[in-house]
Amino acid sequence: MAEQIERVKTLILGSGPAGYTAAIYAARADLKPVMYTGMEPGGQLTTTTEVENFPGYPEGIDGPTMMVQLQQQAERFGTEVRLGMATAVEFSDQPGGIHRVTIDNNKVIEARTVIISTGASAKYLNIPSEQRLRGGGVSACAVCDGFFYKGQDVAIVGGGDTAAEEASYLANICNKVTMLVRKDQMRASKAMQHRVMNLPNIDIRFNTEVDEILGDQVVEGLRMVNNQTGEKEEIPITGFFVAIGHKPNTDIFRGQLDMDDTGYLITQGKTTKTNKPGVFASGDVQDKVYRQAVTAAGTGCMAALDAERYLATVETPETVS
Ligand code: NDP
Repeated sequence: MAEQIERVKTLILGSGPAGYTAAIYAARADLKPVMYTGMEPGGQLTTTTEVENFPGYPEGIDGPTMMVQLQQQAERFGTEVRLGMATAVEFSDQPGGIHRVTIDNNKVIEARTVIISTGASAKYLNIPSEQRLRGGGVSACAVCDGFFYKGQDVAIVGGGDTAAEEASYLANICNKVTMLVRKDQMRASKAMQHRVMNLPNIDIRFNTEVDEILGDQVVEGLRMVNNQTGEKEEIPITGFFVAIGHKPNTDIFRGQLDMDDTGYLITQGKTTKTNKPGVFASGDVQDKVYRQAVTAAGTGCMAALDAERYLATVETPETVS
């Protein structure tokens, strides 16, 4: 297929809160950003219902509406938002160099700066009852959705730091939290383990896995199985939280950008700079600790400011387009 090439000043990959905030700032700074939305336009927030913890929405807002409004805000200042997915990248090592990004295997964008906001995806157990009840009581974000289960009984699966942190968060809000850990010990740090073990309303079940989440439209209970004895037990719950890790969407950057051993992009100090000049990372793709819409938006703003300053340092009258 013939290669079509287009040259842009700032290319933004990904359309969650980080990407749109980067777009708003980049457009207002006249960087004429072009955004490719990725496979899930709007990102992870389009899979949640009510967002109650983003400042400025006293009544809360549903995730998909918020993303449409962010898109409108980015477009108002001239961002070109396009459906499409980056399928290959070739980043330059030279300050002021041109980065090549292939979209949908057939179109090449040459960009002076690239802002990567491709996010991370929560891992799920991938059992049918869990998939059926997503949005009906199954959630992968306790901080986002825990509040809806105030005073109720819930369960969480996972034994890492995320699960421990989310179980403690839920224990403050909910009546009882049953925590399922598939091994005979938790992977979480000792400090986090102590925290969950000292909370009286967390019931930790080691060597325990999910057999099935019960309920037709909404979560009504959980059937657990002890993987040592095969013994099954049913408990009533209204919320089920999955906290078995996230996968950053960075496969196409492997070999070009520095990442940690779990694939999160590494940024320099308190900036969004990656190891390639002119390539910046914002949002969950470079943050495995906070992972909130508002923190993602904050780093999106930083990436646009970093891109603007970078262009100012490398631009000559000939390169300005
Ligand atoms: P981890 O990969 O560390 O832990 C995942 C947990 O889920 C493990 O206990 C794992 O069990 C379990 N698990 C995985 N798949 C399944 C499954 N199919 N069924 C049941 N259980 C399953 O992920 P986290 O998100 O907890 O943490 C990611 C990284 O982020 C870590 O480095 C962590 O330290 C860091 N982090 C730091 C925080 C902080 O500093 N405040 C907060 C949150 C995360 P098993 O052990 O058996 O493999």
